[in-house]
Amino acid sequence: MQFRDLKAQYLVLKDKIDAKIRDVLEEGQFILGQHVQELEAKLADYVGVKHCISCANGTDALLLVLMAWGIGPGDAVFTSDFTFVASASVASVRGATPVLVDIDPRTFNICPIALEEAIQKTLQEGQLTPRLIIPVDLFGLPADYPRIQELAQKYNLLVLEDGAQGFGGSIKERKACSFGDAATTSFFPAKPLGCYGDGGAIFTNDDDLAATLRSLRAQGRSSEDKYDNRLIGVNSRLDTLQAAILLVKLEAFTEYELETVNWIAGVYNDKLSDIVEVPIVPEGFYSSWAQYTITLDSGARRDALQRRLTDRGIPSMVYYPRPLHTQTAFASMTVDSSLFPNSRKTAETVLSLPMHPYLSEEDIERITRAVRESL
Ligand SMILES: *Cc1c(COP(=O)(O)O)cnc(C)c1O
Repeated sequence: MQFRDLKAQYLVLKDKIDAKIRDVLEEGQFILGQHVQELEAKLADYVGVKHCISCANGTDALLLVLMAWGIGPGDAVFTSDFTFVASASVASVRGATPVLVDIDPRTFNICPIALEEAIQKTLQEGQLTPRLIIPVDLFGLPADYPRIQELAQKYNLLVLEDGAQGFGGSIKERKACSFGDAATTSFFPAKPLGCYGDGGAIFTNDDDLAATLRSLRAQGRSSEDKYDNRLIGVNSRLDTLQAAILLVKLEAFTEYELETVNWIAGVYNDKLSDIVEVPIVPEGFYSSWAQYTITLDSGARRDALQRRLTDRGIPSMVYYPRPLHTQTAFASMTVDSSLFPNSRKTAETVLSLPMHPYLSEEDIERITRAVRESL
């Protein structure tokens, strides 16, 4: 059994994917070919925003937006303490300062109360200018955008949704990757919508921002004269081959994969909620289930469960074993670890179970039985 079975997906979609790859090889437009424009249009339409700008990966997607907004030294960028490192490190790459914020242990997402405290503390200290919030849609569940947006308005901050894990989720009628002033996602193979290599995208309704991002991803070139580089940019484009593969995968994702993972999450919940804490999806929210993550009573119980599952041939993962404030790369930031009781506890007690749309009912039965018997 695989934690996330990409081969099973390939076998189902093989004919379509192979045909698309052949199209690209025959056309020979490997960079920004027509499949890239077609994918961008389809993604923007699905998410419900005006512009989708694809790029090389989900980290660059965040970084390009920070470049476009001129985030840099002296700026405070608020993000979750419990996420993949890129949500925070992009601020450091720009010379800005990531300000890490504790999570709500029920949703694993940034806690709006802790966020407001962090903003007020930053203002009181007077060293940094609060500029931007990067909420993360962890494990596929959108962050609490209604409350985050209120804080952004109150303190005049930009919001950049890190939807690397969130693509496909929603809050009421509004889809993930449409929140904030801009949003990003990743097409890393194991994300909800993944390609066969690296890839990423940015979403926004802002025409000027979209134009700047299209320039920045292509060395800062101007749209009128491609040999006039009017901005300092980078080289960060989505390959035509990856775009072609994503066109096939997007169809499967919207037609059945997203519904299937939600069905699987429901079965897991039914079979496990009496013995472990199962993940919570608040009223009106919809998850894309990048991960299905249970919480145990203690670190010892989590570790023991993982060992027993491994012995039975059932893969599981700890996302994430280290909150960001404990990462060596962030050691120079003076952080008070008592500010992060929830992310510390969560890192010790969570376990993610296999989750992907090609899990068989037999697999699900084996997994849930193994969890129950191990406990
Ligand atoms: C994967 C991920 C990223 C980075 O995406 P890449 O495509 O790997 O660069 C950023 N933020 C979060 C929350 C992620 O899970």
